[in-house]
Amino acid sequence: TNSVFAGLGTSVFESMSRLAWQLGAINLGQGFPEGFEPPELIEVAAQALRSGSHQYPPSQGLPVLRQAVADNALRFAGLTLDPDREVLVTSGATEALLSTFLALINPGDEAIILEPAYDSYRPVLARAGAVVVPVRLTPPDWALDEEALRAAITPRTRLIVVNTPMNPIGKLFSLAEIDLLARLAGEFGLTVVSDEVYEHIVFDGRPFRSVLGHPSLRDRAVRIGSAGKSFSVTGWKVGYVSAAPPLLSAIQRAHQYVTFTTSPALQTAVAAGLNLPNSYFAGLKARLQVRRDLFLNALRTAGFQPDPVPATYFATLRLPETGGAPDDLAFAERLVREAGVAAIPVSGFYGNRDVKTHIRFCFAKPEPVLLEAARRLSDWR
Ligand code: PMP
Ligand code: GLN
Repeated sequence: TNSVFAGLGTSVFESMSRLAWQLGAINLGQGFPEGFEPPELIEVAAQALRSGSHQYPPSQGLPVLRQAVADNALRFAGLTLDPDREVLVTSGATEALLSTFLALINPGDEAIILEPAYDSYRPVLARAGAVVVPVRLTPPDWALDEEALRAAITPRTRLIVVNTPMNPIGKLFSLAEIDLLARLAGEFGLTVVSDEVYEHIVFDGRPFRSVLGHPSLRDRAVRIGSAGKSFSVTGWKVGYVSAAPPLLSAIQRAHQYVTFTTSPALQTAVAAGLNLPNSYFAGLKARLQVRRDLFLNALRTAGFQPDPVPATYFATLRLPETGGAPDDLAFAERLVREAGVAAIPVSGFYGNRDVKTHIRFCFAKPEPVLLEAARRLSDWR
């Protein structure tokens, strides 16, 4: 077939995890946390299952979870959301993205993504009928450049997809950058889809700013969150979308034919999670910050020069490192085979796979695992 998906290989996350497993390597590739799941959430989920929470919940999501999404957004992002008209529960952020793109894209529309871009955006936008227009951020600061963004906008541009904090580079969008998005969205009548799944994983006391919090974007932005990230349960696949009623209802129309709904027991547990006291969210940041510091220090001791990590649980390394032209895929293959440590080649976040300068490690792992990984990297080097 000639469909968009038929021509794609296996996702870089899946293929690297498989290789790590086959080789018995330490898997710092695919982004999933180990050992951070809050026990109280698991208890709530188990209780809900035992007490008979098994049938279709409402397609928009359980009211208790929609309320919790709104309350959490008020507490941590200063957003006032109407849980009945502005919140939708989805089967993970992945489905939130799909339903959003299906709802908002008409065939032939153009959609701007910022590279390095999370790998699902491009194929799903394309399958929804969009012409995908990448705008590149460049190291070391990965700043959003007004000229580059303006140059990418045409009369057919429908939306811009952003990701803050940004996987894989840990970038937090500044107020000035959100302001720029707001100006251009207003000027050209665009919608901004903001993937904010790492909203609670921000370090060194930095504030998280939701794109939806900008007054000019309140009716123009779609905010996407994920319990997988905020509660370290990536296999649960519970996500949420927040947007003004006209946008949200369009996305909900798509959602009802994509998954229709999401496990009610897990929705109940995620509601409890979003309602946890501030200490839980501060603790998540603090614990991950300790792992970040430990891992970055260990990499430096081993002679590498990792990039700064303002947010997310990903550390990137710019390849010197091998001499010759950087080739992240070759480097990552050597690391997993020879050093026994799996990482993700960041070229997987570029549509053309042509930027091969960085690899990414996930450091949301137990301390002994990180120390052992660093020891292996040091020995290998
Ligand atoms: N967006 C980004 C930027 C992500 O990193 C991920 C998870 N890797 C997702 C979306 C998907 O989240 P979920 O597991 O909730 O579908
Ligand atoms: N979001 C995860 C990452 O960036 C991977 C998700 C997946 O495997 N599809 O590593």
